[in-house]
Amino acid sequence: MKRELRKLQRQLNAEERHSLYQNIMDAHSGDNATFYKIIRRQRQSGKRLLDCLIIDDVHFDTPDLIREAWTNYFTDLSTPSEKPQNQQYRSQVELDRILLQDILEHEDEKTIEFDIGTIQKCISKMKTGKATDQFGISAEHFKYGGEKTAKILTNLINEAFKFKRVPQCFKEGIVSPLFKGHGKPICLPKSYRRITVSPVMGKLMESVHLCLEEPKLLKVQSRLQRGFTAGVNPTFAALPLTEAIIEAKELGQTLFTTFVDASSAFDVVWHASLLKSIFKSGISGQSWQILNDWYTNMSSAVRWEGKLSTSFAELQGVRQGSVWSPSVYKLFVNPLIKKLESESLGFKIGNVFVGTPMCADDLLLISSKPDELQTMISYTSHFAETEEYNISKEKTKVMIWNSSLNCNLWNQMEKFHIGSETLETVENYKHIGIDRDSREVEATRTIIGNRLKTARQTSYALMGSGLHGLNGLNPEVSCKLWSTYVVPRLLFGLEIVNLSAKDISRLDIFCNNFLKQIQNLPARASNAGAYLLLGQLPIIALLHKKILITFGTIARSDSVENDLAKRQLSTKGKNSKSWFIRADKILKQYNLPCASEVLLKPETKYKWKMKIKKCIDNFWSEKLFTEAKSKPSLRYLNIKNCKIGVVNSIWKSAGSEQMCIRKACYKIKMLLDTYILQYHRSKFSNGQKTSICPLCEEGTEHLEHFLVVCSALTSIRDIFISKLYTVVVPKIGTVAWTDICVSNSKMIQLILDCSRFEWYHVLEKNDINLVESITRSLCYSLHEKRSVLLESK
Ligand SMILES: [Zn+2]
Repeated sequence: MKRELRKLQRQLNAEERHSLYQNIMDAHSGDNATFYKIIRRQRQSGKRLLDCLIIDDVHFDTPDLIREAWTNYFTDLSTPSEKPQNQQYRSQVELDRILLQDILEHEDEKTIEFDIGTIQKCISKMKTGKATDQFGISAEHFKYGGEKTAKILTNLINEAFKFKRVPQCFKEGIVSPLFKGHGKPICLPKSYRRITVSPVMGKLMESVHLCLEEPKLLKVQSRLQRGFTAGVNPTFAALPLTEAIIEAKELGQTLFTTFVDASSAFDVVWHASLLKSIFKSGISGQSWQILNDWYTNMSSAVRWEGKLSTSFAELQGVRQGSVWSPSVYKLFVNPLIKKLESESLGFKIGNVFVGTPMCADDLLLISSKPDELQTMISYTSHFAETEEYNISKEKTKVMIWNSSLNCNLWNQMEKFHIGSETLETVENYKHIGIDRDSREVEATRTIIGNRLKTARQTSYALMGSGLHGLNGLNPEVSCKLWSTYVVPRLLFGLEIVNLSAKDISRLDIFCNNFLKQIQNLPARASNAGAYLLLGQLPIIALLHKKILITFGTIARSDSVENDLAKRQLSTKGKNSKSWFIRADKILKQYNLPCASEVLLKPETKYKWKMKIKKCIDNFWSEKLFTEAKSKPSLRYLNIKNCKIGVVNSIWKSAGSEQMCIRKACYKIKMLLDTYILQYHRSKFSNGQKTSICPLCEEGTEHLEHFLVVCSALTSIRDIFISKLYTVVVPKIGTVAWTDICVSNSKMIQLILDCSRFEWYHVLEKNDINLVESITRSLCYSLHEKRSVLLESK
C-alpha cells in the first residue's frame, strides 16, 4: 500500500516536472520575457505565506489583525523617541530647521524651471513593468503618453517648484513588508524589510529634482562611500579591505577591523538633522524647501492581502525604494566618515586613506592599532547617539588579521567596546555578501565552500536533482539557466578577493562536473568536449573577465581605488599578493596592455568590455581546441564548427521533445566515445575481459564496429542509412555519397557530426535538422537493439 502510494507520488512529481520543463523549453525557444517569468514563478513556489505575526508576544492571526498590527508597528518605527539622548541637541537642530525654513521662505530667488526635454529624459529613465500606484498610474502611462503628457507633467512640476510645495498626493506612500528570507523567523516583524512604493507622479518629480542636484552631492560625498553611486559596483567597498589585509601582511603588521551594524538606520533617519546636512552640502533656496516639504506631513498606509490600512505619519526615516533616499542617507552619515578621515583615524596604504570603506549603511573601520580602532568605534557610536540612530552591539563584530593569536585569546585580552558593552571578536563575517575569514590571510576557504553550496542549491531548485537530458530538459536550456542564475551567484564578488590556485581548481571541478551532468555525460568524458558542445568557457575565464572589467572601471574613475592602483603598481614588486599586481599579471596573460598603461589611457566602458571579451574568448577557445585535438576520443567532433556562445547543433536540433533529447543524449555519448562497448570493458579490466563483440562475435566491438560494421545490427542500420540517402543525395550528388559509403570512418563522420564535410554548407537549415533527426534515431535504435539482443543472450 505504502509502496503503491510512493510510486504514484513519484509519477505525479515526474509529470509535474516534465510539464514544467516543457513550459520552460517552449518559452526558451520563444520570447525571453516569458522564459524569465516561468523561472521566477518556479523559484518562488517554495515561499511560505505569513499566517501569524508576533509583536511583543502578542499573536495576530487574521489578515485584518495582521494589517492593523503592521500599521501600529510601522507607526512606532516612524515616530522619534520621546526621550532623546541629548535633549538640548535635539531642540537646537529642530530649531535650526524652523529658522532655515523661515529664512529661505523670505529669500528672493530665481525660480527653478525645467524644460520639457529634462522631463522627457527623466521619464525615459523610469523603470517599467511595475505594478500601478494607488491612482492606477504606472511609468508606462508617462512613457507612451507622448508630448502632450510630457507638457502637462512639466507644467505640474514647475508649479510645485514655484510654490515650493509638494502636493500631498505625490508623497502618499504604500508600505509592503518584504520577507528577507535567509532562514529568518517568518512571524517576527524584524525579519521584514519595509518597502514603500511612492506614487509615480512623485517619483518623477523626485528624479527630476535629483538630476538637478546630484553633481553637488557627489562633490561632498566621501570617496570611501561606495553605495548607490552610479557606475560604482557596491563590491568596490570590499576592495580596500582586501588590499589592506595584504598590505598589513606584507608589512608584518596586525590589522584590526570592525564591521559596524546600523542596519535599521534607514528607518529612523532624523528629518531635521538630515535637512541640516542637506543645507550644509550646498543645497539651499527652493531646492531645500522642496526637500523640506517632502519630509513635512509625509504619510503612508500599509497594504496587506489586497487592502489598505489607515494612513500613519512618517516623522522619521527615509523610504526604502524612493528616488532621493540613498542620496540623502549618504549625506546624513557623510560627516562621520569625513571626520574620521580628516582626523587621520584609520588605516592608510602609502598615503591613501582606506580606514572607513562604506557601502550605504554598511560601515567598516580599519586600523593597524588597537587603540586607534577603539577611538574610531567611539566616534562612530557617539555620532549614532547624537543623530539618534542605533548601532547594534550584538551584531557589530571585530575581526583581527595577521595575528598569531586566535580570536578566543583576543576576546580575553583586548576588549573593544561601545559604551559598557564589549564587542565580540570573530573568525569569520559576511561583509557586503562576501565571506571573510581571518584564519587565512587570503581568506578564501570559507567563501568557496559557501559559494559551491549556494550554486548547488540554486541549480537543484531550478532543474531538479539528478541527471538532466535523460530527464527531459534540453542541455541548451539547462546551460542558459546555469549562466543566468547559477554562475552570477557562484562568482558574486569573487573578483575582489584573491583566490588561491586551490580555490580556482575547486570551482573548476564543480563547473566541469556540472556541465557534464546536464549533458548526461560521465565524469571521464573530455572536459574540452563538454565545454565545446555547449559553447561555454571555463569558470576561470569568466572570473578573469570580471577582474579585468573591474580594473577597467577603476582606471576610468577618480576614486580611492584608482589612487590605490597607482600606488601599488609603482611600489610593489611582482611577487606581491596585491590585487592590482594580480590584475596586471592577468592582463599580461592575455597580451593586453599592462596595468599602468590602462591606468594612463583608460578606454571607454564599452570598448574595454569588447576588447576583454575578444581576447579572453580567443585565448580559451584556442586552448580548448588544442586540448580537443589531442584527444583521440574527440576525433569525430568537428572543432572548426565549435564557437564560444554557440550550442552544438546536435543539442539545438533536439528541441523540446523529450524523446528527441533522449536520443540526442546517446548520440552525444557516441560522439565523445563514452558509450560503453565491449572494447571499453576490456580496456577497463586491463584485458581480463574479452573485447569481442557479444552480438556477432566477429571482431572487436569498438565504436566503428558498433556503428557501421556489426552484422547483428545491419537490419536496423540499413533503414536509417537509406533514409539518409533520400535526404542527402539530392543535395550532394551520388559521387559524394559513394565516397562516404566506401569508407567506414566517413560513414561514422556522417552519422556523428556531418558538419565536417565540405558539402555541409550547401545544406539548408531544414536539411540539417532532418539529418540530425535521422542520425540521432539511428544511434538510439542501435543502442536499443543492442540492449534487446544482450538481454536475450
Ligand atoms: Zn558485432
